[in-house]
Amino acid sequence: MISRLAIFGATGDLTARYLLPGLAALRAAGHLSDDFRLAAAGREGWDEAEFQRWAQAQLDRHAGHLPAPARQAVLAATRYHQSDVTDPASVAAVIAGDGPVAAYLALPPAVVPAAVSALHDAGLSPGCRIVLEKPFGEDLHSAVELNHLLAECVPEEQVFRVDHFLAMTTVQNILGTRLANQVLEPIWDAAHIAEVDITWDESLALEGRAGYYDWVGALKDMLQNHLLQLLCLVAMEPPLSLGERDLRDRKMDVLRSIRPLTEADAARRTRRGRYLAGRIGDRQVPAYTEEEGVDPARRTETFAEVELELDNWRWAGTIFRLRTGKALSRDRKEVAVRFRPVPHLPFGHTGEAHPNVLRFGLDPENLTLDLTGIGARARDLVPLNLSARLDPPELPAYGRLLLDVLDGNAALSIRGDEAEESWRVLTPVLAAWSKDLVPLEEYPAGSDGPVPAKM
Ligand code: NDP
Repeated sequence: MISRLAIFGATGDLTARYLLPGLAALRAAGHLSDDFRLAAAGREGWDEAEFQRWAQAQLDRHAGHLPAPARQAVLAATRYHQSDVTDPASVAAVIAGDGPVAAYLALPPAVVPAAVSALHDAGLSPGCRIVLEKPFGEDLHSAVELNHLLAECVPEEQVFRVDHFLAMTTVQNILGTRLANQVLEPIWDAAHIAEVDITWDESLALEGRAGYYDWVGALKDMLQNHLLQLLCLVAMEPPLSLGERDLRDRKMDVLRSIRPLTEADAARRTRRGRYLAGRIGDRQVPAYTEEEGVDPARRTETFAEVELELDNWRWAGTIFRLRTGKALSRDRKEVAVRFRPVPHLPFGHTGEAHPNVLRFGLDPENLTLDLTGIGARARDLVPLNLSARLDPPELPAYGRLLLDVLDGNAALSIRGDEAEESWRVLTPVLAAWSKDLVPLEEYPAGSDGPVPAKM
Protein backbone atom coordinates (compact mmCIF):
# COMPACT_ATOMS: atom_id res chain seq x y z
CA MET A 1 0.00 0.00 0.00
CA ILE A 2 1.33 3.45 -0.84
CA SER A 3 0.85 6.33 1.55
CA ARG A 4 0.82 9.41 -0.69
CA LEU A 5 -2.08 10.85 -2.64
CA ALA A 6 -2.12 14.06 -4.69
CA ILE A 7 -5.49 15.46 -5.77
CA PHE A 8 -5.48 17.90 -8.69
CA GLY A 9 -8.76 19.83 -8.68
CA ALA A 10 -8.90 19.72 -4.88
CA THR A 11 -11.21 22.73 -4.62
CA GLY A 12 -13.92 21.05 -6.71
CA ASP A 13 -17.21 19.33 -6.03
CA LEU A 14 -15.86 15.76 -6.34
CA THR A 15 -13.18 16.41 -3.72
CA ALA A 16 -15.65 18.10 -1.39
CA ARG A 17 -18.45 15.57 -1.62
CA TYR A 18 -16.64 12.29 -2.17
CA LEU A 19 -12.83 12.27 -1.96
CA LEU A 20 -12.32 13.97 1.42
CA PRO A 21 -15.25 12.02 2.96
CA GLY A 22 -13.93 8.81 1.36
CA LEU A 23 -10.54 9.37 2.99
CA ALA A 24 -12.16 10.11 6.35
CA ALA A 25 -14.16 6.87 6.04
CA LEU A 26 -10.94 4.98 5.32
CA ARG A 27 -9.32 6.52 8.36
CA ALA A 28 -12.34 5.73 10.56
CA ALA A 29 -12.26 2.08 9.40
CA GLY A 30 -8.54 1.82 10.18
CA HIS A 31 -7.37 1.61 6.55
CA LEU A 32 -5.26 4.80 6.50
CA SER A 33 -1.94 4.63 8.26
CA ASP A 34 -0.45 7.47 10.29
CA ASP A 35 2.08 8.19 7.57
CA PHE A 36 -0.64 8.90 4.96
CA ARG A 37 -0.11 12.30 3.26
CA LEU A 38 -2.45 14.21 0.94
CA ALA A 39 -1.20 16.96 -1.40
CA ALA A 40 -4.28 19.00 -2.37
CA ALA A 41 -3.70 21.08 -5.50
CA GLY A 42 -6.00 23.81 -6.77
CA ARG A 43 -6.00 27.00 -8.81
CA GLU A 44 -7.24 29.15 -5.91
CA GLY A 45 -4.59 31.39 -4.35
CA TRP A 46 -5.53 30.15 -0.88
CA ASP A 47 -3.08 29.89 1.98
CA GLU A 48 -2.98 26.74 4.10
CA ALA A 49 -5.42 28.09 6.70
CA GLU A 50 -8.00 29.04 4.05
CA PHE A 51 -7.87 25.58 2.45
CA GLN A 52 -8.09 23.87 5.84
CA ARG A 53 -11.18 25.95 6.71
CA TRP A 54 -12.81 25.03 3.41
CA ALA A 55 -11.90 21.34 3.70
CA GLN A 56 -13.12 21.19 7.30
CA ALA A 57 -16.45 22.69 6.26
CA GLN A 58 -16.80 20.08 3.48
CA LEU A 59 -15.99 17.24 5.86
CA ASP A 60 -18.45 18.57 8.44
CA ARG A 61 -21.12 18.81 5.75
CA HIS A 62 -20.54 15.59 3.83
CA ALA A 63 -18.93 13.32 6.43
CA GLY A 64 -20.46 14.65 9.66
CA HIS A 65 -21.55 11.12 10.60
CA LEU A 66 -17.92 9.97 10.84
CA PRO A 67 -15.96 10.31 14.09
CA ALA A 68 -14.35 13.75 14.50
CA PRO A 69 -10.84 12.26 15.05
CA ALA A 70 -11.01 10.58 11.60
CA ARG A 71 -11.92 13.88 9.92
CA GLN A 72 -9.23 15.71 11.88
CA ALA A 73 -6.62 13.11 10.91
CA VAL A 74 -7.35 13.69 7.19
CA LEU A 75 -7.02 17.46 7.64
CA ALA A 76 -3.79 17.05 9.59
CA ALA A 77 -2.36 14.89 6.79
CA THR A 78 -3.23 17.46 4.10
CA ARG A 79 -1.15 20.28 2.60
CA TYR A 80 -2.55 22.73 0.04
CA HIS A 81 -0.60 23.73 -3.09
CA GLN A 82 -1.66 26.44 -5.49
CA SER A 83 -0.79 24.84 -8.78
CA ASP A 84 -1.19 25.03 -12.54
CA VAL A 85 -1.99 21.45 -13.64
CA THR A 86 -0.65 22.11 -17.12
CA ASP A 87 2.80 23.24 -15.93
CA PRO A 88 5.30 20.40 -15.31
CA ALA A 89 7.33 22.37 -12.75
CA SER A 90 4.21 23.25 -10.78
CA VAL A 91 2.99 19.62 -10.94
CA ALA A 92 6.43 18.32 -9.90
CA ALA A 93 6.25 20.47 -6.76
CA VAL A 94 2.91 18.88 -5.82
CA ILE A 95 4.03 15.27 -6.28
CA ALA A 96 7.50 15.73 -4.76
CA GLY A 97 8.25 13.47 -1.79
CA ASP A 98 9.52 10.07 -0.77
CA GLY A 99 8.03 6.97 -2.36
CA PRO A 100 5.37 6.56 -5.04
CA VAL A 101 2.34 8.82 -5.21
CA ALA A 102 -1.15 8.35 -6.67
CA ALA A 103 -2.11 11.42 -8.73
CA TYR A 104 -5.91 11.83 -8.74
CA LEU A 105 -7.12 14.07 -11.58
CA ALA A 106 -10.40 15.47 -10.21
CA LEU A 107 -10.53 17.87 -13.13
CA PRO A 108 -12.88 18.79 -15.97
CA PRO A 109 -12.41 16.28 -18.83
CA ALA A 110 -11.07 18.97 -21.19
CA VAL A 111 -8.12 19.69 -18.85
CA VAL A 112 -7.12 16.06 -18.30
CA PRO A 113 -4.87 15.48 -21.37
CA ALA A 114 -2.77 18.56 -20.54
CA ALA A 115 -2.53 17.42 -16.92
CA VAL A 116 -1.36 13.93 -17.97
CA SER A 117 1.30 15.51 -20.22
CA ALA A 118 2.44 17.70 -17.33
CA LEU A 119 2.67 14.63 -15.07
CA HIS A 120 4.73 12.89 -17.73
CA ASP A 121 7.11 15.84 -18.04
CA ALA A 122 7.26 16.29 -14.27
CA GLY A 123 8.52 12.69 -14.03
CA LEU A 124 6.77 9.96 -12.09
CA SER A 125 8.88 7.60 -9.99
CA PRO A 126 8.32 3.82 -10.30
CA GLY A 127 5.12 2.62 -8.65
CA CYS A 128 3.25 5.93 -9.13
CA ARG A 129 -0.41 5.72 -10.14
CA ILE A 130 -2.69 7.98 -12.14
CA VAL A 131 -6.39 8.14 -11.32
CA LEU A 132 -8.87 9.46 -13.86
CA GLU A 133 -12.57 10.18 -13.57
CA LYS A 134 -15.40 9.69 -16.01
CA PRO A 135 -15.94 10.59 -18.74
CA PHE A 136 -12.65 9.19 -20.03
CA GLY A 137 -12.09 11.36 -23.10
CA GLU A 138 -14.88 13.08 -24.95
CA ASP A 139 -15.26 10.59 -27.80
CA LEU A 140 -13.47 7.56 -29.24
CA HIS A 141 -10.70 9.58 -30.83
CA SER A 142 -9.83 11.55 -27.68
CA ALA A 143 -10.03 8.38 -25.53
CA VAL A 144 -7.51 6.63 -27.83
CA GLU A 145 -5.20 9.65 -27.64
CA LEU A 146 -5.50 9.84 -23.87
CA ASN A 147 -4.65 6.14 -23.61
CA HIS A 148 -1.51 6.77 -25.66
CA LEU A 149 -0.50 9.63 -23.36
CA LEU A 150 -1.06 7.49 -20.27
CA ALA A 151 0.92 4.59 -21.71
CA GLU A 152 3.92 6.90 -21.91
CA CYS A 153 3.61 7.71 -18.19
CA VAL A 154 2.92 4.48 -16.30
CA PRO A 155 2.09 0.81 -17.03
CA GLU A 156 -1.59 0.04 -17.61
CA GLU A 157 -1.96 -1.69 -14.18
CA GLN A 158 -1.10 1.66 -12.60
CA VAL A 159 -3.82 3.58 -14.45
CA PHE A 160 -7.07 3.78 -12.50
CA ARG A 161 -9.99 4.90 -14.68
CA VAL A 162 -12.38 4.85 -11.77
CA ASP A 163 -16.10 4.21 -11.94
CA HIS A 164 -17.57 4.51 -8.47
CA PHE A 165 -20.65 2.49 -9.50
CA LEU A 166 -18.46 -0.61 -9.55
CA ALA A 167 -17.60 -0.06 -5.89
CA MET A 168 -21.23 0.13 -4.72
CA THR A 169 -22.32 -2.82 -2.61
CA THR A 170 -25.38 -3.66 -4.72
CA VAL A 171 -23.40 -3.47 -7.90
CA GLN A 172 -20.94 -5.90 -6.37
CA ASN A 173 -23.98 -7.94 -5.44
CA ILE A 174 -25.06 -8.30 -9.05
CA LEU A 175 -22.07 -10.62 -9.30
CA GLY A 176 -22.61 -12.05 -5.81
CA THR A 177 -26.25 -12.92 -6.49
CA ARG A 178 -25.49 -14.41 -9.88
CA LEU A 179 -22.37 -16.34 -9.09
CA ALA A 180 -22.63 -17.44 -5.46
CA ASN A 181 -26.05 -19.08 -5.93
CA GLN A 182 -27.18 -22.06 -7.96
CA VAL A 183 -30.71 -20.78 -8.67
CA LEU A 184 -30.01 -17.92 -11.05
CA GLU A 185 -27.14 -18.82 -13.34
CA PRO A 186 -28.97 -21.69 -15.17
CA ILE A 187 -31.76 -19.29 -16.18
CA TRP A 188 -29.51 -16.29 -16.79
CA ASP A 189 -29.90 -16.16 -20.56
CA ALA A 190 -32.08 -15.05 -23.43
CA ALA A 191 -34.24 -18.18 -23.22
CA HIS A 192 -35.49 -16.98 -19.82
CA ILE A 193 -34.86 -13.24 -19.72
CA ALA A 194 -36.72 -10.97 -22.15
CA GLU A 195 -35.43 -7.55 -21.14
CA VAL A 196 -33.00 -5.85 -18.80
CA ASP A 197 -33.68 -2.23 -17.82
CA ILE A 198 -30.72 -0.34 -16.41
CA THR A 199 -32.16 2.90 -15.07
CA TRP A 200 -30.67 5.91 -13.31
CA ASP A 201 -33.51 8.44 -13.06
CA GLU A 202 -32.81 11.41 -10.81
CA SER A 203 -35.18 13.96 -9.32
CA LEU A 204 -32.16 16.25 -8.91
CA ALA A 205 -31.80 18.89 -11.62
CA LEU A 206 -28.57 20.64 -12.59
CA GLU A 207 -27.72 21.80 -9.04
CA GLY A 208 -25.34 24.53 -10.22
CA ARG A 209 -23.05 22.19 -12.18
CA ALA A 210 -23.47 23.74 -15.65
CA GLY A 211 -19.71 24.33 -15.95
CA TYR A 212 -19.28 20.56 -16.15
CA TYR A 213 -22.61 19.14 -17.26
CA ASP A 214 -23.45 21.49 -20.11
CA TRP A 215 -20.32 20.29 -21.95
CA VAL A 216 -21.04 16.64 -21.31
CA GLY A 217 -24.76 15.78 -21.14
CA ALA A 218 -26.56 12.64 -19.98
CA LEU A 219 -25.12 10.21 -22.52
CA LYS A 220 -21.47 10.97 -21.73
CA ASP A 221 -21.99 11.68 -18.02
CA MET A 222 -23.83 8.47 -17.14
CA LEU A 223 -24.60 6.10 -19.97
CA GLN A 224 -21.22 5.76 -21.70
CA ASN A 225 -19.55 4.74 -18.45
CA HIS A 226 -21.68 3.78 -15.42
CA LEU A 227 -24.62 2.21 -17.24
CA LEU A 228 -22.51 0.32 -19.77
CA GLN A 229 -20.43 -1.03 -16.88
CA LEU A 230 -23.61 -2.26 -15.19
CA LEU A 231 -24.59 -3.94 -18.45
CA CYS A 232 -21.21 -5.70 -18.42
CA LEU A 233 -21.73 -7.07 -14.92
CA VAL A 234 -25.24 -8.32 -15.72
CA ALA A 235 -24.27 -9.94 -19.01
CA MET A 236 -20.70 -11.17 -18.50
CA GLU A 237 -19.75 -14.83 -18.50
CA PRO A 238 -18.70 -16.07 -15.04
CA PRO A 239 -15.07 -15.01 -14.59
CA LEU A 240 -12.43 -17.39 -13.23
CA SER A 241 -11.81 -14.95 -10.39
CA LEU A 242 -12.53 -11.35 -9.52
CA GLY A 243 -8.90 -10.46 -10.18
CA GLU A 244 -8.26 -7.55 -12.52
CA ARG A 245 -7.47 -9.64 -15.60
CA ASP A 246 -10.34 -12.13 -15.34
CA LEU A 247 -12.97 -9.54 -14.48
CA ARG A 248 -11.91 -7.04 -17.11
CA ASP A 249 -11.47 -9.65 -19.86
CA ARG A 250 -15.04 -10.85 -19.31
CA LYS A 251 -16.43 -7.27 -19.29
CA MET A 252 -14.55 -6.61 -22.51
CA ASP A 253 -16.23 -9.66 -24.10
CA VAL A 254 -19.62 -8.10 -23.37
CA LEU A 255 -18.69 -4.73 -24.83
CA ARG A 256 -17.34 -6.41 -27.96
CA SER A 257 -20.54 -8.41 -28.36
CA ILE A 258 -22.83 -5.36 -28.40
CA ARG A 259 -24.37 -5.29 -31.86
CA PRO A 260 -23.01 -2.20 -33.65
CA LEU A 261 -25.74 0.35 -34.20
CA THR A 262 -26.14 1.93 -37.61
CA GLU A 263 -27.19 5.56 -37.69
CA ALA A 264 -30.65 4.33 -38.73
CA ASP A 265 -30.73 2.04 -35.64
CA ALA A 266 -29.64 4.97 -33.51
CA ALA A 267 -32.52 7.03 -34.86
CA ARG A 268 -34.98 4.22 -34.05
CA ARG A 269 -33.58 2.90 -30.77
CA THR A 270 -32.38 5.98 -28.88
CA ARG A 271 -34.11 8.99 -27.33
CA ARG A 272 -32.83 12.21 -25.91
CA GLY A 273 -34.57 14.97 -24.01
CA ARG A 274 -34.10 18.23 -22.13
CA TYR A 275 -36.18 19.42 -19.21
CA LEU A 276 -38.49 22.42 -19.22
CA ALA A 277 -39.53 24.37 -16.12
CA GLY A 278 -41.65 22.39 -13.67
CA ARG A 279 -42.30 21.35 -10.11
CA ILE A 280 -40.56 18.45 -8.37
CA GLY A 281 -42.22 17.88 -5.00
CA ASP A 282 -42.16 21.31 -3.36
CA ARG A 283 -39.33 22.65 -5.57
CA GLN A 284 -39.95 24.88 -8.57
CA VAL A 285 -37.22 24.10 -11.12
CA PRO A 286 -36.33 26.43 -14.02
CA ALA A 287 -36.00 25.08 -17.55
CA TYR A 288 -32.54 23.60 -18.21
CA THR A 289 -31.86 26.36 -20.72
CA GLU A 290 -32.57 28.98 -18.01
CA GLU A 291 -30.10 27.46 -15.53
CA GLU A 292 -27.06 29.63 -14.80
CA GLY A 293 -24.12 28.87 -17.08
CA VAL A 294 -26.09 26.87 -19.67
CA ASP A 295 -25.67 27.71 -23.34
CA PRO A 296 -28.92 26.60 -25.03
CA ALA A 297 -27.14 26.49 -28.39
CA ARG A 298 -25.14 23.46 -27.20
CA ARG A 299 -28.40 21.50 -27.13
CA THR A 300 -27.14 19.39 -24.24
CA GLU A 301 -29.47 16.52 -23.37
CA THR A 302 -30.55 15.90 -19.77
CA PHE A 303 -32.23 12.59 -20.66
CA ALA A 304 -30.84 9.71 -22.70
CA GLU A 305 -32.14 6.25 -23.52
CA VAL A 306 -30.45 3.61 -25.66
CA GLU A 307 -31.64 0.11 -26.53
CA LEU A 308 -28.93 -2.47 -27.20
CA GLU A 309 -28.67 -6.15 -28.15
CA LEU A 310 -25.79 -8.53 -27.67
CA ASP A 311 -24.65 -10.84 -30.43
CA ASN A 312 -23.48 -13.81 -28.41
CA TRP A 313 -24.72 -17.28 -27.56
CA ARG A 314 -26.16 -16.40 -24.16
CA TRP A 315 -27.98 -13.17 -24.96
CA ALA A 316 -29.20 -13.23 -28.58
CA GLY A 317 -32.83 -12.07 -28.31
CA THR A 318 -32.72 -10.11 -25.02
CA ILE A 319 -33.20 -6.34 -25.08
CA PHE A 320 -30.98 -4.21 -22.83
CA ARG A 321 -32.41 -0.73 -22.22
CA LEU A 322 -30.13 1.89 -20.65
CA ARG A 323 -31.80 5.07 -19.44
CA THR A 324 -30.88 8.11 -17.38
CA GLY A 325 -32.36 11.54 -16.82
CA LYS A 326 -32.36 14.56 -14.58
CA ALA A 327 -35.24 16.54 -13.03
CA LEU A 328 -37.62 13.57 -13.23
CA SER A 329 -40.59 12.97 -10.95
CA ARG A 330 -38.69 10.60 -8.68
CA ASP A 331 -35.45 8.77 -8.11
CA ARG A 332 -35.44 5.36 -9.69
CA LYS A 333 -32.01 3.77 -9.71
CA GLU A 334 -32.03 0.08 -10.46
CA VAL A 335 -31.22 -2.82 -12.69
CA ALA A 336 -34.47 -4.67 -13.46
CA VAL A 337 -34.10 -8.15 -14.96
CA ARG A 338 -37.43 -9.14 -16.58
CA PHE A 339 -38.07 -12.84 -17.07
CA ARG A 340 -40.22 -14.24 -19.85
CA PRO A 341 -43.76 -15.43 -19.02
CA VAL A 342 -44.29 -19.09 -18.16
CA PRO A 343 -45.21 -21.20 -21.21
CA HIS A 344 -48.54 -22.39 -19.76
CA LEU A 345 -50.80 -21.51 -16.80
CA PRO A 346 -52.40 -24.81 -15.91
CA PHE A 347 -55.18 -24.21 -13.41
CA GLY A 348 -57.59 -21.80 -15.03
CA HIS A 349 -57.11 -19.18 -12.35
CA THR A 350 -58.43 -15.71 -12.91
CA GLY A 351 -56.06 -12.83 -13.39
CA GLU A 352 -52.76 -12.72 -15.15
CA ALA A 353 -49.41 -14.03 -14.00
CA HIS A 354 -47.36 -11.07 -12.84
CA PRO A 355 -44.07 -10.86 -14.64
CA ASN A 356 -41.07 -12.10 -12.67
CA VAL A 357 -38.68 -9.20 -12.18
CA LEU A 358 -35.46 -9.32 -10.21
CA ARG A 359 -34.47 -5.80 -9.20
CA PHE A 360 -31.07 -4.70 -7.96
CA GLY A 361 -31.82 -1.38 -6.26
CA LEU A 362 -28.75 0.82 -6.54
CA ASP A 363 -29.81 3.68 -4.31
CA PRO A 364 -31.19 2.75 -1.84
CA GLU A 365 -29.32 -0.53 -1.98
CA ASN A 366 -31.70 -3.49 -1.91
CA LEU A 367 -32.75 -6.55 -3.81
CA THR A 368 -36.33 -7.50 -4.70
CA LEU A 369 -37.99 -10.27 -6.65
CA ASP A 370 -41.50 -9.92 -8.08
CA LEU A 371 -43.30 -13.26 -8.36
CA THR A 372 -46.86 -14.53 -8.80
CA GLY A 373 -48.74 -16.64 -6.25
CA ILE A 374 -52.27 -17.80 -5.53
CA GLY A 375 -54.23 -15.40 -3.38
CA ALA A 376 -56.57 -15.79 -0.42
CA ARG A 377 -59.57 -16.35 -2.69
CA ALA A 378 -57.82 -19.47 -4.01
CA ARG A 379 -58.72 -18.77 -7.62
CA ASP A 380 -56.82 -15.47 -7.95
CA LEU A 381 -53.31 -15.02 -9.12
CA VAL A 382 -51.72 -12.30 -7.01
CA PRO A 383 -48.36 -10.52 -6.96
CA LEU A 384 -45.82 -11.73 -4.41
CA ASN A 385 -42.79 -9.70 -3.55
CA LEU A 386 -39.63 -10.87 -1.83
CA SER A 387 -37.23 -8.22 -0.69
CA ALA A 388 -33.91 -8.01 1.08
CA ARG A 389 -32.27 -4.90 2.44
CA LEU A 390 -28.50 -5.00 2.46
CA ASP A 391 -26.45 -3.97 5.48
CA PRO A 392 -24.94 -0.52 5.01
CA PRO A 393 -21.48 -0.87 3.46
CA GLU A 394 -18.43 -0.50 5.68
CA LEU A 395 -17.03 2.00 3.21
CA PRO A 396 -18.72 4.44 0.83
CA ALA A 397 -18.01 3.74 -2.86
CA TYR A 398 -15.30 6.41 -3.04
CA GLY A 399 -13.67 5.04 0.12
CA ARG A 400 -13.47 1.63 -1.48
CA LEU A 401 -12.07 3.11 -4.72
CA LEU A 402 -9.42 5.13 -2.90
CA LEU A 403 -8.42 2.06 -0.92
CA ASP A 404 -8.00 0.09 -4.16
CA VAL A 405 -5.89 2.91 -5.63
CA LEU A 406 -3.59 3.03 -2.59
CA ASP A 407 -3.47 -0.78 -2.51
CA GLY A 408 -2.71 -1.00 -6.24
CA ASN A 409 -5.72 -3.19 -7.01
CA ALA A 410 -7.05 -2.21 -10.45
CA ALA A 411 -9.85 -4.82 -10.71
CA LEU A 412 -12.64 -2.28 -10.24
CA SER A 413 -11.20 0.33 -12.55
CA ILE A 414 -11.78 0.43 -16.29
CA ARG A 415 -9.03 -0.90 -18.53
CA GLY A 416 -7.99 1.24 -21.50
CA ASP A 417 -9.51 -1.10 -24.10
CA GLU A 418 -12.84 -1.13 -22.21
CA ALA A 419 -12.93 2.67 -22.25
CA GLU A 420 -12.35 2.74 -26.01
CA GLU A 421 -14.86 -0.02 -26.72
CA SER A 422 -17.52 1.83 -24.72
CA TRP A 423 -17.05 4.87 -26.93
CA ARG A 424 -17.15 2.67 -30.03
CA VAL A 425 -20.59 1.39 -28.97
CA LEU A 426 -21.97 4.92 -28.71
CA THR A 427 -20.19 6.62 -31.61
CA PRO A 428 -23.13 6.04 -34.05
CA VAL A 429 -25.48 7.50 -31.43
CA LEU A 430 -23.35 10.63 -31.09
CA ALA A 431 -23.22 10.90 -34.90
CA ALA A 432 -27.00 10.47 -35.28
CA TRP A 433 -27.67 13.02 -32.54
CA SER A 434 -25.26 15.57 -33.98
CA LYS A 435 -27.07 15.24 -37.33
CA ASP A 436 -30.40 15.72 -35.57
CA LEU A 437 -31.67 12.33 -36.71
CA VAL A 438 -33.12 11.97 -33.20
CA PRO A 439 -35.26 14.86 -31.93
CA LEU A 440 -34.28 16.60 -28.69
CA GLU A 441 -37.60 16.04 -26.91
CA GLU A 442 -38.72 18.39 -24.16
CA TYR A 443 -40.21 17.22 -20.87
CA PRO A 444 -41.43 19.22 -17.87
CA ALA A 445 -39.27 18.96 -14.75
CA GLY A 446 -41.10 16.68 -12.33
CA SER A 447 -42.54 14.49 -15.11
CA ASP A 448 -41.53 10.95 -16.09
CA GLY A 449 -39.38 12.26 -18.96
CA PRO A 450 -40.15 11.91 -22.67
CA VAL A 451 -41.27 8.34 -21.91
CA PRO A 452 -42.00 6.75 -18.50
CA ALA A 453 -39.58 4.15 -17.17
CA LYS A 454 -40.93 0.60 -17.44
CA MET A 455 -42.23 -0.51 -14.04
P1 NDP B 1 -15.68 20.91 -10.47
O1 NDP B 1 -15.89 21.84 -11.62
O2 NDP B 1 -16.47 21.12 -9.24
O3 NDP B 1 -14.14 20.95 -10.00
C1 NDP B 1 -13.11 20.79 -10.90
C2 NDP B 1 -11.79 21.18 -10.26
O4 NDP B 1 -10.87 21.35 -11.32
C3 NDP B 1 -11.80 22.46 -9.46
O5 NDP B 1 -10.86 22.35 -8.42
C4 NDP B 1 -11.35 23.46 -10.50
O6 NDP B 1 -10.71 24.59 -9.96
C5 NDP B 1 -10.33 22.68 -11.26
N1 NDP B 1 -10.18 23.22 -12.61
C6 NDP B 1 -11.14 23.58 -13.47
N2 NDP B 1 -10.61 24.03 -14.61
C7 NDP B 1 -9.28 23.97 -14.46
C8 NDP B 1 -8.17 24.31 -15.28
N3 NDP B 1 -8.32 24.82 -16.49
N4 NDP B 1 -6.95 24.12 -14.77
C9 NDP B 1 -6.78 23.64 -13.54
N5 NDP B 1 -7.78 23.29 -12.71
C10 NDP B 1 -9.02 23.45 -13.18
O7 NDP B 1 -15.86 19.45 -11.06
P2 NDP B 1 -16.14 18.11 -10.24
O8 NDP B 1 -15.28 18.11 -9.04
O9 NDP B 1 -17.59 17.94 -10.07
O10 NDP B 1 -15.69 17.00 -11.29
C11 NDP B 1 -14.34 16.66 -11.50
C12 NDP B 1 -14.34 15.32 -12.22
O11 NDP B 1 -14.95 14.35 -11.37
C13 NDP B 1 -15.14 15.31 -13.53
O12 NDP B 1 -14.50 14.50 -14.46
C14 NDP B 1 -16.45 14.65 -13.13
O13 NDP B 1 -17.06 13.93 -14.17
C15 NDP B 1 -15.99 13.68 -12.05
N6 NDP B 1 -17.06 13.29 -11.13
C16 NDP B 1 -17.70 14.22 -10.38
C17 NDP B 1 -18.70 13.85 -9.52
C18 NDP B 1 -19.42 14.84 -8.69
O14 NDP B 1 -20.44 14.48 -8.10
N7 NDP B 1 -18.96 16.07 -8.58
C19 NDP B 1 -19.11 12.43 -9.39
C20 NDP B 1 -18.37 11.53 -10.22
C21 NDP B 1 -17.38 11.96 -11.05
P3 NDP B 1 -11.54 25.96 -9.74
O15 NDP B 1 -12.34 25.72 -8.51
O16 NDP B 1 -10.47 26.97 -9.57
O17 NDP B 1 -12.37 26.15 -10.97
